[in-house]
Amino acid sequence: MPAMRAMILDGPKKPLRPADVPQPVPGPGEVLVRVRACGVCRTDLHVVDGDLAEPKLPLIPGHQVVGTVEAAGPARPGGGEGAPRRGGFAVGQRIGIPWLGGSCGGCDYCREGRENLCGHARYTGYQADGGFAEFCAADERFCFPLPEGYPDLQAAPLLCAGLIGYRALRMAGDAQRIGFYGFGASAHILAQAAKYQGRKIYAFTRPGDAAGQEFARRLGADWAGSSDEPPPEPLQAAIIFAPAGELVPAALRAVARGGTVVCAGIHMSDIPAFPYSILWGERVVRSVANLTRQDGQEFLALAPRAGVRSVVQPYPLEKANEALADLRAGRLTGAAVLVVDPRAAQ
Ligand SMILES: [Zn+2]
Ligand SMILES: [Zn+2]
Repeated sequence: MPAMRAMILDGPKKPLRPADVPQPVPGPGEVLVRVRACGVCRTDLHVVDGDLAEPKLPLIPGHQVVGTVEAAGPARPGGGEGAPRRGGFAVGQRIGIPWLGGSCGGCDYCREGRENLCGHARYTGYQADGGFAEFCAADERFCFPLPEGYPDLQAAPLLCAGLIGYRALRMAGDAQRIGFYGFGASAHILAQAAKYQGRKIYAFTRPGDAAGQEFARRLGADWAGSSDEPPPEPLQAAIIFAPAGELVPAALRAVARGGTVVCAGIHMSDIPAFPYSILWGERVVRSVANLTRQDGQEFLALAPRAGVRSVVQPYPLEKANEALADLRAGRLTGAAVLVVDPRAAQ
């Protein structure tokens, strides 16, 4: 079996280990993808840091995978020989592999179009090997064709930072004044989409992060300040991208009656106790979990229309640990992306 370069997680809190491992063999209904670039997401950091309890081990992380179809596995059982594959990707076609790698298709959630909540879902770079490697196998029904006009590196952060961020934006309803707490990979993409939708964006960064606030203004934020300041006017919704529980009461204080606070991350530190008065007035706190394929289709259609550009910081595959360390320390501007194939379009 041919070998490939990969970055491997052996256990929580261990640095990723570069290794040569066998290329994956695509199973029934899967495609083998030659990876060009893979985004680095805060969820990858939570997996590596042991905040999420159920990774397969050893694991190849990474769930914002951009690459080309190298080969297709055998037909899915029951699909029949030569049955059209639902993904229908051609060999050589550029596609994206997102966090939701599969769901059961039969539970109430899956039948209601809420596959993001399926109890038997399989997540890329968590329960299945992901894109911190030269090749990745994925269920083609859960992969996306990628819009033209996005070089490989810029396309990668659309696949989670953009896509799950888009789901969070949808959960903010039609709020016109939206606060973003944490202006990183996700917020910098969503700010552009939200501006296109005619909304006003209020960006909150760590106190004193003048560079982060300047970055937010450059990407269209109408106001930028520190997370411990009140916004200049009451917000109608807030999305919390940073994994810091203390931002929940801060955001509740910033939203007007009837406003929604959306927690967009998969993990957050404990939320401190807060007085009922800041929730009173039909304010809502909710989380957003994963993505549905419909979120992906909608967002990948919206991004080019809205002229969304992602700002990326590239790292070679072997420097994945540095990318994770920079994300952990808040040293990134925009999104970290691993360049897996040196020929990937920047
Ligand atoms: Zn299901
Ligand atoms: Zn992610």
